[in-house]
Amino acid sequence: MIDTHMHITMEEFDNDRERIVLEFEEIGMKCAIEVGYDIESSERASLFAQEHEKVYAAVGVHPHDAEKVKDGWLERLSALLHQSKVVALGEVGLDYYRDLSPRTVQKEVFKEQLKLAQTLNIPLIFHVRDAYEDMRKIVKDYDVRGVIHSFNGSEEDAKEFVKMGFYIGVGGIATYKKNVALREIISHLPLERILTETDCPYLSPQPVRGKRNEPKNVRFTIEMLSQLFNKSFAEIESQTEKNAKNLFGICS
Ligand SMILES: [Zn+2]
Repeated sequence: MIDTHMHITMEEFDNDRERIVLEFEEIGMKCAIEVGYDIESSERASLFAQEHEKVYAAVGVHPHDAEKVKDGWLERLSALLHQSKVVALGEVGLDYYRDLSPRTVQKEVFKEQLKLAQTLNIPLIFHVRDAYEDMRKIVKDYDVRGVIHSFNGSEEDAKEFVKMGFYIGVGGIATYKKNVALREIISHLPLERILTETDCPYLSPQPVRGKRNEPKNVRFTIEMLSQLFNKSFAEIESQTEKNAKNLFGICS
């Protein structure tokens, strides 16, 4: 299994992040991607990846943090993207649900990063909330690939994203009891476009909901997918690993 979206350099893991990564081998975690959300967390993610064989990094500025960027941020980001084991630009996008940065600023920062991803030919990890349509309008002007992290849209959205060549990130949200409609949508997706993720410490899947999330919980998402697609755990695991390798070129 692969966790394509974790945040274990956050302080929630100050007491046990080394143990968590040490256990990857034992629990069958092939590798995982530590995802940054501003320049500082991106630098931490990159450093953490250099220090841990099974960890890769994504670097980028989250829409929440778009307003806080300082002069020279794009140069710092670009330098990070050239480091080894940095395999994606993210998480980036638009968040109209919380609107923590003004939408005009979110769009501006998003576009700069899309341009950079296109120039460097590096995949993106998209964080998009209540803004799928605007996001597609913007992204259409760029030649980029990537994953819609923690997808939570309509059947139409899913179809559009698949048509655009994107992968769909599936994690805790899709395991929640009440999210029957989302699971129905996911069950119609091509399995070769699904990536597994936790977004830990957030979004713990159903059986451990309310507790701090951890990379190992990605297995609950694989279990849910195996029921949904009527395939064995091993089949889903192997296909989703292949998908992550295809998009990010990791875990070789
Ligand atoms: Zn995240």
